[in-house]
Amino acid sequence: MIRLKNIKKSFGKQMVLKGIDLTVEKGEVVVILGPSGSGKTTLLRCINFLERADSGAITIGDLSVDCHRATKKEILALRRKTAMVFQHYNLFKHKTVLENVMEGLVVVQKWPVERAKERSLQILEKVGLSQQIDMYPSQLSGGQQQRVGIARALALNPEVILFDEPTSALDPELVGEVLSVIQKIAREGITMIVVTHEMGFARDISDHVVFMDNGVVVEEGKPNEIFHAPKEERTKQFLKRIT
Ligand code: ATP
Repeated sequence: MIRLKNIKKSFGKQMVLKGIDLTVEKGEVVVILGPSGSGKTTLLRCINFLERADSGAITIGDLSVDCHRATKKEILALRRKTAMVFQHYNLFKHKTVLENVMEGLVVVQKWPVERAKERSLQILEKVGLSQQIDMYPSQLSGGQQQRVGIARALALNPEVILFDEPTSALDPELVGEVLSVIQKIAREGITMIVVTHEMGFARDISDHVVFMDNGVVVEEGKPNEIFHAPKEERTKQFLKRIT
């Protein structure tokens, strides 16, 4: 289970997260919606300490850390429980597909190379990239690159995968293949927090939906409640604009 308690983050004078509380049960898929600039990406980055929140606490599984006081050791331990899929893939350009997926296992988790290779090949098969293992990122389509990003996250066997607008850099015709891979792994019961602007996908994949605006959680609930019967005016306005 993941629990965020009163997460606050400012950049200079701008308070971007104003006290976020969120609980994600094991195996649950939580989708975070909200207008541009509402703090969604910052929240994901605070969960794995790519940004350090100014205050609040984060629990992932058996580890709880106080964001302000967290030591390097705690941050490393927390990071190992998460994996992030980025909007712009963030692959190693000079490594092959297979090497990109193996990297975290060998370098961070210290797996023997042969075992890491075996696991990476299995996962690349799962995301439909068995034919591309020796290619370099520049030889792949955006959709394939993002599937490598997803394979890399999956390989680490994290307690939670954080998806930051995984399809927003893709040409429209490539979005579907990435969404269906995410859907497939969601069905396997992997805990996920997904920031997306793809409303149909959000509706299909989510167990729980969180609507953020201006650094706060305005409303949260089951996808049916949020999409079909939102209570808050701000949620209604957002959904009217975007759907
Ligand atoms: P989008 O949907 O456009 O990606 P978002 O909801 O993910 O938006 P964030 O990217 O979290 O929003 O940004 C929230 C606010 O924080 C924005 O006003 C942004 O300019 C600001 N911000 C984010 N990162 C930084 C940073 N490193 N330094 C200064 N300001 C930042």
